[in-house]
Amino acid sequence: MTHDARLRPLASRRQWLAPREIAIRDPWGVRWLRLSRRTQVSALALGVAALAWVAHATVATLVPADDPLRQAETIARLQTEIAGRARDADALRLDIARLREEKAVADAARAVAESQLAAALPAPGQSPEDARVTALESELAEAYLKQQGMAESLAVADDRIAALEDKAMGLRDMVAVTGRQATQLKDKVSTLELMQGHLVERLKPATDVEIALLETGLAPTRLDLDKVVSEVADGGSGGPLLPVMDDLAPTVENARLSDLTASTARLDALRSAVSSMPIALPVRLDGIEVRSNFGNRRDPINRRAAFHAGIDFGGTIGTPVFATAPGEVVLAGWAGAYGRAVRVRHAFGLETQYAHLSALSVKVGDKVDVGDVIGKLGSSGRSTGPHLHYEVRLQDIPGDPMRFIEAGRNVQQQTERARDEAED
Ligand SMILES: [Zn+2]
Repeated sequence: MTHDARLRPLASRRQWLAPREIAIRDPWGVRWLRLSRRTQVSALALGVAALAWVAHATVATLVPADDPLRQAETIARLQTEIAGRARDADALRLDIARLREEKAVADAARAVAESQLAAALPAPGQSPEDARVTALESELAEAYLKQQGMAESLAVADDRIAALEDKAMGLRDMVAVTGRQATQLKDKVSTLELMQGHLVERLKPATDVEIALLETGLAPTRLDLDKVVSEVADGGSGGPLLPVMDDLAPTVENARLSDLTASTARLDALRSAVSSMPIALPVRLDGIEVRSNFGNRRDPINRRAAFHAGIDFGGTIGTPVFATAPGEVVLAGWAGAYGRAVRVRHAFGLETQYAHLSALSVKVGDKVDVGDVIGKLGSSGRSTGPHLHYEVRLQDIPGDPMRFIEAGRNVQQQTERARDEAED
C-alpha cells in the first residue's frame, strides 16, 4: 500500500474534493447520501482556519506588540475571518443535522424491512426444507383449528339431532298410546254395538209381544188403536223411549234400532191410552150383580122390546160409584129418566155416564181420576129398584160397557203377569 501510494501521482485537488456518496441499503433499494464539494471544502476550511487561529493567537501572545496600528488592522482582519468561518461552521452543522435525520429515517425503514424479511425468509440457521416444514406445520395448525371449529359445530348439530330424536321418540310413544286408546275405544264401541244389537234382538220381540198382547186385550173396545196411538202422540203424553233417531246412519243395525224405537213408541202410546180409557169397574163387585146387559132386551117396566144402551149393576143404595177413567165432569144433576146422573168426558172421544144415583159427589167442570167417587148408587129416575145404569159412549154412540170392562180385565191380567215375570 505504501509502495503503491509512492508510485501513484498525487491526486489533483479537484479529484481529492470530488463529491462523495454514501450508499444506504434499505428494503426499497439502495439510497445514496451525497456529500457535496462545498460541504467538503467548508469542512476543510474550518479545520485550516482553526489551525491558523491557534497559530496566530500563539504568535500574538508570544510576540510583543510593537506597532499598535498594525496590530489593530490585524485584529479587524482576523475578526472578519472568524465571522466568515463561523458562518461556514453554521452551514456545516446544518448539513450534519440533515444527514443525521436522513440516516435515522433510513435506519427505521431498514428495521421494518428486516423484521418483514425475518418473517418471510427462513430464520438464520434454518434450511429451506426446515422453513417448508415450519410453513406446513403452521398450515397444519391452522387446518387443525378449522377442524376443531367444525368439530364444535358438529357437536352442536349432534346435540340438536339428539334432542330432535328424543322428541320424535316421545311423539312415537304418544302416537302408540293414542293408537292403543283408539283401539280400546273401538273395542268398547264394538262391545256397545254388540250389546245394543243383543238388546235390540231381545227388546224388539219382547216389545212386539207386549204390543200384541195390549192390542189383543184392548180389541174388545173396538177402538181404532192406530188412531188412539196417534192421538196420544199428538197429545205429547208418553213420548218415545229413544227420542233422537232421525240422524242415524242408514245401516242395518240402525234400521233395527229405528224399528225398536217405533215399537217402543207404540207400546208407550198404548200404555198411556190404557190409563186414559174407561176400562175399570164403576162399582166394587162385592155384593154387586150384573142384572141387565147392553143391547136389545125386554123393557123391565113396560115389558116391550127395547134397546138398553148400558149395563145395570144391582146393589144397595149408597154404594159408592167410581169414575172408570180420568176425565172432566160434563153433567152432574137430574137428567129425566136417568134420574140423578153424572157424565164424564174422557180421551179418544169417549164418555161414561152413571145414572139413577141417590147422591152426587161432583159438579160440572170437575176433573176426576180413575177410582174417584162421583156419587152413590140409587134408584132415581125411571128405575125399578136400586141399581147403577152405566154407559160408555164413543162419539155419543153407546157401546157395550162389558167390552171395555173385559179389555180392562185383559190389561190387568197382562200387567199382573208382567209384574210376576219381573219379580221372578
Ligand atoms: Zn140400565
